[in-house]
Amino acid sequence: MAKGKSQNCTWFCSECNTANDLSHYPKNRNEEIVKELKKFCSKCRAHVIHKRKDTKKGN
Ligand SMILES: [Zn+2]
Repeated sequence: MAKGKSQNCTWFCSECNTANDLSHYPKNRNEEIVKELKKFCSKCRAHVIHKRKDTKKGN
């Protein structure tokens, strides 16, 4: 049953391309989740746009 499975994702800074945040969301609500989000980047030391990249869940 694939229902209710959660999708892991990583947020990458659009300025320096550093992965700053890991999170997950329900896969069936994929379209409701934003693909860009302003987050704090520890490398840039500022709030910058981060892009979401889906990652597969490990076993
Ligand atoms: Zn950055």
